[in-house]
Amino acid sequence: MTDTIFGKIVSGEIPAEFLYEDEHCVAINDINPQAPVHVLVIPKRAIARLVDAQADDQALLGHLMLAAGKVASQLGVDDAFRLIVNNGAGAGQTVFHLHLHILAGRGFAEGQMAGFK
Ligand code: 5GP
Repeated sequence: MTDTIFGKIVSGEIPAEFLYEDEHCVAINDINPQAPVHVLVIPKRAIARLVDAQADDQALLGHLMLAAGKVASQLGVDDAFRLIVNNGAGAGQTVFHLHLHILAGRGFAEGQMAGFK
């Protein structure tokens, strides 16, 4: 698979501040935040899209969810955050290295999510 910007970030080829890191994933601030808190949880092992995940990715996918909860707690937004995965260009995916968006710090009522992400 062609490496993406996130592959280069997790490998350290492109420097980025890791808000969180463990053996399987990192978390970074989104470069173009859509909310006061907009963090990306990125697995170190690249899977292009959620739909490309296989049965043996089950533990990694669960790990990413748990890591997202830890990051939200670390950032003090564990009472109110939204977790998003964009799957495919038609859904707005622009980086084809699976990642979770953590969004917090603004209202998420009906109608406020137009265009999102
Ligand atoms: P997607 O649209 O694929 O679900 O999300 C990709 C996200 O990555 C976008 O929200 C975009 O702003 C963010 N992004 C793209 N390039 C970079 C980068 O080089 N650094 C960081 N921190 N975020 C990036």
